Amino acid sequence: MLAEVDPEVHAAIAGELARQQSHLELIASENWTSPAVREAMGSVMTDKYAEGYPGRRYYGGCEWVDVVERLAQERVKGLYQADFANVQPHAGAPANTAVYMAALQPGDTLMGMALAQGGHLTHGSPVNFSGKFYRVVDYGVDRETERIDMEAVRQRALAERPQIIVAGATAYPRVIDFAAFRRVADEVGALLMVDMAHIAGLVAAGEHPSPMPYADFVTSTTHKTLRGPRGGFILTRRPDWAKAVDKAVFPGLQGGPLMNLIAAKAVAFHEAATPAFRSYQHQVVQNARRLANSLVAEGLRVVSGGTDNHLMLVDVRPLSLTGKEAQARLAKAHITVNKNTIPYDPAKPAIGSGIRIGTPAVTTRGFGLPEMDQLGRLIGRALRAADDAAAAPVRHDVERLARHFPLPGVDG
Ligand SMILES: *Cc1c(COP(=O)(O)O)cnc(C)c1O
Repeated sequence: MLAEVDPEVHAAIAGELARQQSHLELIASENWTSPAVREAMGSVMTDKYAEGYPGRRYYGGCEWVDVVERLAQERVKGLYQADFANVQPHAGAPANTAVYMAALQPGDTLMGMALAQGGHLTHGSPVNFSGKFYRVVDYGVDRETERIDMEAVRQRALAERPQIIVAGATAYPRVIDFAAFRRVADEVGALLMVDMAHIAGLVAAGEHPSPMPYADFVTSTTHKTLRGPRGGFILTRRPDWAKAVDKAVFPGLQGGPLMNLIAAKAVAFHEAATPAFRSYQHQVVQNARRLANSLVAEGLRVVSGGTDNHLMLVDVRPLSLTGKEAQARLAKAHITVNKNTIPYDPAKPAIGSGIRIGTPAVTTRGFGLPEMDQLGRLIGRALRAADDAAAAPVRHDVERLARHFPLPGVDG
């Protein structure tokens, strides 16, 4: 149908499919959804307006969208042992925005992890609304250990007295100690928000400690390790905050919910409760450890000396490269990563001294430990390939490896 109606868009989608098939996807925030998730996303639920919440909508004809939104709410609450869920945020950034709207006044103090040290734009970056509407104080990692130093966080919080502390990161390879954040929040009288966007799948499977017992608010995306459609959600174990969160999402921030995506979130939450999902997440973490080791064997330096989760930050300076150059060399070999700053990076953010590598997508594709060893060697070869001629044989080997692992649910 699409090929006939709109050949240009059809061709672009076909090109993207071919790219996904022939490249190795190591971007830590990406994954492949199941055919069931994509079927729900492409369903007629996209056509329905449903402003409001189940049982209290501003439009008629909402009986079936109410069913899927209630399913999504109940399933995500079950998955994380939450008392309340809002599944309407269009993505991770609006989920965070809604919590700030619910809990803060403009000008209040927000304490989050600095972007350059692994935090997210929405944790108070000056280019983001969070950095413009609130007074931001940040924390980072220790220069030596490259891990969050909870005593430094505590001292900063005692000095600055934030209304809210945000824990969670977009490029941090270690376990985050949510109990320690709770103790700091209690000591200074702050709320604690945990943004588990990256690790939501690991948390659901017990591969990372859950923030739920400690946080006032937990926000997340659904499309990273959790392997659902693009989207977000907010959880709390505090019924006293439920109403304020609902009001902040709608009508505070968004209009009509994306009901096809909420249906797909319900499917993803269902899948995330299965034994198969737990063993997938376990493999993601084992694969990340193994890949980090094989990159060290290639002469690279892994920030903080390793990883506890699904991602690693790789310092490429031992090979006399910048992050930007490393990303470009890997792209020539059909290995997709993103350049990243490393903690206390002397290079400008647009250049960076590192790359961020994650195992969720290739693990969904079926990669195990032997493939991690192969991948480490391929990355080492690609990074050493100074020109197109040198990159060509690496690309050839990458494509051969990719052909052995069809895209699950896409190639059948
Ligand atoms: C990805 C991410 C987000 C934002 O999610 P979007 O869906 O891109 O808006 C927020 N917080 C963290 C920690 C993230 O990693």
